[in-house]
Amino acid sequence: MMRKRFKRILLFLLVLSLALSLGCAQGKEGRLEVTFLDVGQGDSIFISTPSGKNILIDGGKRAIPPYSKFDAGKEVILPFLKKKGIKRIDTLIATHPDGDHIGGLLAVLDSDIQIDKVLDSGYRHTSYTYRDFLKKIERSRGTKYYQPRAGQVLDWGDGVKAQVLSPAHLFRDSNNSSIVIKLEFGDISFLFTGDVEKEAEGKMVSRYGNKLKSTVLKVSHHGSRTGSSLNFLKMVNPQAAVISCGRRNKFGLPHKEVMDKLARFKVKVYRTDRQGNITFATNGKKLWIGTEIGDR
Ligand SMILES: [Zn+2]
Repeated sequence: MMRKRFKRILLFLLVLSLALSLGCAQGKEGRLEVTFLDVGQGDSIFISTPSGKNILIDGGKRAIPPYSKFDAGKEVILPFLKKKGIKRIDTLIATHPDGDHIGGLLAVLDSDIQIDKVLDSGYRHTSYTYRDFLKKIERSRGTKYYQPRAGQVLDWGDGVKAQVLSPAHLFRDSNNSSIVIKLEFGDISFLFTGDVEKEAEGKMVSRYGNKLKSTVLKVSHHGSRTGSSLNFLKMVNPQAAVISCGRRNKFGLPHKEVMDKLARFKVKVYRTDRQGNITFATNGKKLWIGTEIGDR
């Protein structure tokens, strides 16, 4: 009985992923694709726009031998980009300089992929990883460096609007200083929140109110209780939420309080620790969702 059910789920997923890839192969133009990459405990999101722009938000951790061997840049992001045949990234966004967000970006900066622009929060982290990150940007040819602030609109072409919602000014801590971006394409929108906590969320609620409303929410700070305040979730009011976190991570993420709140809002939750890479594709009206694996 279980086997039969398992087979049926497998078949469903196969059809879904086939439909997704066929759909994209047919008309890459006109589609926006957002993939939440499974980088373990960290964040990394790849976006391709209808006009052919490639955007990478964060890059998971880097290997720091002998303490950790896993390098999200080398083991997840670069193979993913290679498979897609991507040789150029228009905009690379480091939401904030913590190791689980910029670590894996070092390998991307070292690769032969051309990076046109880097957006950085500007929060000065004292880590070697951040120092190396800035050095590599300085050394890479043709890469421009910006520190965007709330209110700026990024032009990603063909009706895709990306607006910076935070920070207006840097906060005292790195997480709250995260770059927050709302991406809109037709009726569908995504809110990328980095690791913002209640302080930055509160500022956004008072500044933008229900303009925060988004179809898909990247739950801030890997589902930590330090973020996802009730008022913020009320204003965002998403249909789907994505939590990017590591399997059996030592922080116990996502926290139960956050899962309970999302359940209360009847939000469909996707998790990279359970479903691997999670891809959303949209033509501005419909939204297709594909996961790499069923629940693990
Ligand atoms: Zn983080």
